[in-house]
Amino acid sequence: MIAADACGPNGRLVPAMRPSRAARAQGGVDVEALERAAAQLLAALGADLDSDGLRDTPRRMAHAYRELLTAEPFSLTTFPNDQCYDELVVVRDIRFRSLCMHHVLPFFGVAHVAYLPGERILGLSKLARVVELFACELQLQERLTMQVADWLEQELHPRGVGVVLEAEHLCMSLRGVQTPGARTVTSALRGLVRDDSRTRDEFLSLTGGRMR
Ligand code: ZN
Repeated sequence: MIAADACGPNGRLVPAMRPSRAARAQGGVDVEALERAAAQLLAALGADLDSDGLRDTPRRMAHAYRELLTAEPFSLTTFPNDQCYDELVVVRDIRFRSLCMHHVLPFFGVAHVAYLPGERILGLSKLARVVELFACELQLQERLTMQVADWLEQELHPRGVGVVLEAEHLCMSLRGVQTPGARTVTSALRGLVRDDSRTRDEFLSLTGGRMR
């Protein structure tokens, strides 16, 4: 399952891009079917698809959704924690955007992701990639938060994981209760980040203390 040779003797390819997820990331959106459906949706909205401004809109919609729902392909590597680094690794303010599965409207904001290394560490930029990987599907913010934490726990076996997401949901700010600027905050704390008060406080202070 682990392709140890893919990254040289010290690096190890994390089996994150399993075929099912990789295949979904590559080809999960049927652009032609989406274009047809977009034309039907626009017609149902009363749009005149023969007008100049709308003629190409179904195609543009299909490509926009494909872009929103397709993660950039990437490989994830872990490395031995040779320096025995045993403090939190935190990447703050990772910008992300996703589509809510209830309304298919965007939600967007920042993620703060941390882990307490065990035997292996991960390239820092990869934490942002993990957020993007799970954000590129129809999502719920709570689910996205847990998926990022679960992934780190399963693939990296750290001593602790902390994930906080802050996001504005257009389905809340443009319709329904209409609360522009309101941000939803979700968190998933695992291992020592959850159970050890010093580590938890450090994580919360490093991420702005928004969960206090
Ligand atoms: Zn929604």
